[in-house]
Amino acid sequence: MRVLGRRADDVADVVRSETGKPAAEALTEVVVSVDLLRFYAKKGPGHLRPRRVGSGWMPWKKAWVERVPHGVVGAITPWNYPFIIPMDTVVAALFAGNAVVLKPSELTPLSALLIGELCTEAGLPSDLVRVVTGDGSTGEALIRSGVDRIVFTGSTATGRRVMAAAAETLTPVTLELGGKDPAIVLDDADLDRAVPGVVFGALFNAGQTCLSVERVLVARSRYDEFVRRATELLASLRVGTGVDVDVGPLVSRAQVDVVERHVTQAVAGGARALVGGGRQAPGSSVFLPTLLVHVKPSMDVVSAESFGPLLPVLPFDDDDEAVGLANESRYGLFASVWTRDSTRGIRVARRLHASGVSINDVLSHYAVAGLPMGGVGESGFGRRRGLEGLDEMARTRSMLVDRGGRRREPWWFPYGAGQIRLIRAVLEWRVRRGPAGLLAFARSMARRRERHGA
Ligand code: NAD
Repeated sequence: MRVLGRRADDVADVVRSETGKPAAEALTEVVVSVDLLRFYAKKGPGHLRPRRVGSGWMPWKKAWVERVPHGVVGAITPWNYPFIIPMDTVVAALFAGNAVVLKPSELTPLSALLIGELCTEAGLPSDLVRVVTGDGSTGEALIRSGVDRIVFTGSTATGRRVMAAAAETLTPVTLELGGKDPAIVLDDADLDRAVPGVVFGALFNAGQTCLSVERVLVARSRYDEFVRRATELLASLRVGTGVDVDVGPLVSRAQVDVVERHVTQAVAGGARALVGGGRQAPGSSVFLPTLLVHVKPSMDVVSAESFGPLLPVLPFDDDDEAVGLANESRYGLFASVWTRDSTRGIRVARRLHASGVSINDVLSHYAVAGLPMGGVGESGFGRRRGLEGLDEMARTRSMLVDRGGRRREPWWFPYGAGQIRLIRAVLEWRVRRGPAGLLAFARSMARRRERHGA
């Protein structure tokens, strides 16, 4: 933590140089990682300690569960958060006693190499965290290299290839994949908070966040006001490649092409961009924050991951319709619900096909180290961060020690009437609660002994 505190600006500079994101966003990557370290330092050791479990109807035995590191964890990471995402896995893997081989995105190798450097600076043995750079073929080679677990974060398409490669050696995988997160603005929402919140959720890191708001569903009675206010806000943001901007460039030309394609397709299908709608200048990697109305669920901008600064806004008539629209997605990562009534918000949240939901908030999820990250459906499976993320980094070994001191157990060979009597008595015991069970056991044994004249 001390090393990170000292080198925070260096990290932010490298992240900025590789992604072009605003300085505040680059520095956020360091803060969030430091907080995860704090969380694991506090909760990790207790969580990973061997856990006694009751030995049920065999009280003369002792049973417990131990955590064992996998060995070497292979982490394959994307470019959008080139420091936090690798750190999530490196930190959890090391806490649980593993070594790590990290394969970062080919677009952001320097941030990952810096992680290796920081680990050495923190006094870790130099071969505990190894960084290998390269493209997808290096990722594939890592999966086939004999590592003991793979943690992959990236697109759903690549996730499928990763899982297929891991299947060849039955290497366990965690897949953290894409999303199309909805923000649901209910009819009682406080728009003073919902508008800037949803806009922030959609445009942080220029929309290149797995938890980004990618679809905005607004109660019809508030739709016009929401659209008007959000349009004004988007138009007021500073956009560009400088230090003092709110929304920076996209990471690559390929990413701009995807976003442009989604907008062009939507407009051709009848959608209207009330603000933005294209690049800042021809050939620029800055895509203007864009608010789209008259969009349809069939359009890519509503159904496929855009990973750009877009807000497609759709109206709904009641909560049921909002839930239906939100769940009309093959993804299931995150969602947000905006309402003055948090009980109603929680009720709606529990109906959503998403593994994390914020009420009247957005993106802060990631800054709470105790909350696990992960998805359902085509957003993947397994968890990063939180104690659940630590669980993924260790397998369990269950242990049992017999302390009875007898020469044999009564159910061992050879079978006879005694075993059946015992098993029936245990059954009578286990179907009841508390002392009544023990009494039933004793009665059953006595009854059957009488019946068999034993
Ligand atoms: P990507 O799938 O193109 O690449 C991710 C990583 O996989 C890179 O390191 C890449 O080199 C590597 N890779 C590519 N082909 C591979 C193969 N065949 N075998 C092994 N590794 C291979 O993703 P990206 O464009 O770098 O990142 C953006 C995507 O990541 C988005 O879809 C976004 O939603 C997702 N993402 C998800 C989360 C999450 O927590 N769920 C977080 C961040 C990003």
